[in-house]
Amino acid sequence: MEKKRLVYMDHAATTMTHSEVVRTMMPYLNERFGNPSSIYGIAHESKEAIESARQKVAKALGADAQEIYFTAGGTESDNWALKGVAFANKKKGNHIITTKIEHHAVLHTCQYLEKQGFEVTYLPVDAYGIVDLSELEKAITDQTILISVMYANNEIGTIQPIAEIGKIASEHEIYFHTDAVQAIGNIPIDVEAANIDLLSFSAHKFYGPKGIGGLYIRKGTRIDNLLHGGGQERKRRAGTENIAGIVGLGKAIELATADIDSHNLRIRAMRDRLLAGILGQIPHTRLNGHQEKRLPGNLNISFEYIEGESMLLLLDQYGICGSTGSACTSGSLEPSHVLLAIGLPHEIAHGSLRLTLGDANREEDVDCVLEVLPKVVERLRSMSPLYRPDQ
Ligand SMILES: *Cc1c(COP(=O)(O)O)cnc(C)c1O
Repeated sequence: MEKKRLVYMDHAATTMTHSEVVRTMMPYLNERFGNPSSIYGIAHESKEAIESARQKVAKALGADAQEIYFTAGGTESDNWALKGVAFANKKKGNHIITTKIEHHAVLHTCQYLEKQGFEVTYLPVDAYGIVDLSELEKAITDQTILISVMYANNEIGTIQPIAEIGKIASEHEIYFHTDAVQAIGNIPIDVEAANIDLLSFSAHKFYGPKGIGGLYIRKGTRIDNLLHGGGQERKRRAGTENIAGIVGLGKAIELATADIDSHNLRIRAMRDRLLAGILGQIPHTRLNGHQEKRLPGNLNISFEYIEGESMLLLLDQYGICGSTGSACTSGSLEPSHVLLAIGLPHEIAHGSLRLTLGDANREEDVDCVLEVLPKVVERLRSMSPLYRPDQ
């Protein structure tokens, strides 16, 4: 039997490493193994490879290379930005503003900071998942030291008015951090134009390797060092560098930002055809998030009378990889905090499916989902005690 093609529509969870990225990394996993802190030839090679990757990231963000710090990924960068700024500025104030729809790497760090005596305001969002700027202005006090708002949401794809938020933050002389993990490669970013002071990124969301990411820290930002030890990363994040990862990240960000427009056109066209097909063929469905202000590959759709998890299990039998809006936290199924924040009732939030398209997809994948999904939904609804076909 011919092996079924995998239909991978979970690019927001992770992406496959680009073959050119893998090729660029390979020498640094074997012959170019030198420790960049040493003084001989192969050490210099490693050092240069790191600095060249740093330049590439800086170029992609409109930053200086000295403002780029490598970390082990998006979670670490978010933790560093929030805790680092909070603890270094606690004499100035103890108030942080964020939103209800952040990634858990931000939300759980904020909860930790609350236990450490900081006060956190979690801004509400509208029905599309967009932050209200007047709410933001109202939340600012003379104790506010940091505003953290994600660039684009990982569940519903909503893109925030980042430049406007940056302007407000800078007018009030408050540090502005943004989790841009989902934005890189999808949205052109300019930290200067948007008044961003700190920005988190992670390679595996833009076709780079896992376990490597970074934090942009604007020159002059008051922030505690993350790891204490050797002199790496200007003493702020000590430890021998993940050279192959850093080199891979550099290549990946170069590739991802080189052709954002053509990439977006291709992905958005497939996404829009998929959306039209699903909404057209399957009754009692709705799109979550904003129609235009959303990531090009993101679809998040609620199906009434259905559990998202059962949908995923059936789709998996057809080789289709998606995700639910809801996060399964230690065995108990809690609906997604993002879907609840945009006002969905619990039962609708539970019946949500996230499909995120990217480089792995071709038109035939869209055809496949449009053939399989209506059958899956029909089958699950036929088992639901609440569903009547004539509804
Ligand atoms: C994936 C993701 C993270 C976490 O990044 P890791 O590199 O997996 O730790 C943080 N924020 C957002 C918005 C994400 O999508």
